[in-house]
Amino acid sequence: MKSAIYPGSFDPVTYGHLDIIHRAADIFDELYVSVLVNSTKSSLFSVDERVNMLKEVTSDISNVHIETFSGLTLQYALDKDIHVLIRGLRAVTDFEYELQIAQTNRKFSNDIVDTMFLTTSLQYAYLSSSVVKEIASYGGDISLSVPPQVARRVYEKYGIEYRSH
Ligand code: ADP
Repeated sequence: MKSAIYPGSFDPVTYGHLDIIHRAADIFDELYVSVLVNSTKSSLFSVDERVNMLKEVTSDISNVHIETFSGLTLQYALDKDIHVLIRGLRAVTDFEYELQIAQTNRKFSNDIVDTMFLTTSLQYAYLSSSVVKEIASYGGDISLSVPPQVARRVYEKYGIEYRSH
């Protein structure tokens, strides 16, 4: 059985994340989508809210599991005995940062934990959770960026009534 972990903040999950989740779930037998509990990073949604949204939008993919973890991703992977981390790459700007983390994880696990990069589908290359939040906060249309049940919750946070665009 080949398993992988797709770690991230998912604040909130976007169609870009979902695209990576679908593709990684096709490659691996089990995929753990894991929300990092990071008390120093301010987030719009609580960890529970992020987990619930992820569970809703992945409920049709039977080999996807939603979990939370705190501390180092590498330690979490070693504790679960899973040796592949999945990360999505949007642009060159992601690459430099991700490369450094991937190499650090490989080195500090004595070559046990490796990172697999999936490049984003072009229609989602511009997408990030922060852009979604920024647009929604001004009442803009995020219907092409996040699933409807996520959009409703984002607008709710900003006190904006959700209408499907
Ligand atoms: P983090 O705070 O760890 O960057 P994110 O939730 O922002 O967490 O992202 C998790 C992972 O998903 C990262 O590898 C990121 O590059 C990737 N990702 C984010 N948005 C997209 C997208 N639109 N297409 C592909 N991958 C994406």
